[in-house]
Amino acid sequence: MDEQYQFEDLLHMTLSSLQDYLGLRAFGAYDLKAPIKYTQEKISKELKKEYQCRLQVCTAPDPNTIPADKWEENVLTWPNVNEGKAFSFILQNKTVETEYIGRNKDKKAYSFYESGFVGCLYSYCLPDQRNKVFIKGDMTPSTKVCDRPHNTWILFDSNSILTIWCTCVAGTSLCCSHILAVLYKINVAHKRGY
Ligand SMILES: [Zn+2]
Repeated sequence: MDEQYQFEDLLHMTLSSLQDYLGLRAFGAYDLKAPIKYTQEKISKELKKEYQCRLQVCTAPDPNTIPADKWEENVLTWPNVNEGKAFSFILQNKTVETEYIGRNKDKKAYSFYESGFVGCLYSYCLPDQRNKVFIKGDMTPSTKVCDRPHNTWILFDSNSILTIWCTCVAGTSLCCSHILAVLYKINVAHKRGY
């Protein structure tokens, strides 16, 4: 059986079928003498570099270094994100074709929001740059393989999205379902007039 799986398919596999599949792939790669492209160490080094770079460009501190008691659970501090802003962010940062986002990813993000996977959102206004606000949340993973919540944050500047981070595998692409689900939640709050 020669099945071609897409990355999304792997995320929905059970752990045992994923192990079987990866085992077969490893044997195949060994037979072909395929070179190992990236080590885990190299990947995490690149991720750290990318993370620091996103914060530096926006002259913002690392939200993970902000003490827990400085974050507010207050919807009034949330930025004003309407559909136009959310959609233009998606289009600017899309790494997959628009049709895919429209049909699949967007639906998935909405179902995340609808099923309550988006927990509480916390905000932190930068004291020295009052128009900048971080919004962060813990997202229940959608996959069976990973059971730690994804750490997702977005940095806004006067209601515009400056940059984002999500610890999920798709998060570095600047457009994952968790980020979209957070944007939905903020947008719904805005529409309800908070
Ligand atoms: Zn994510």
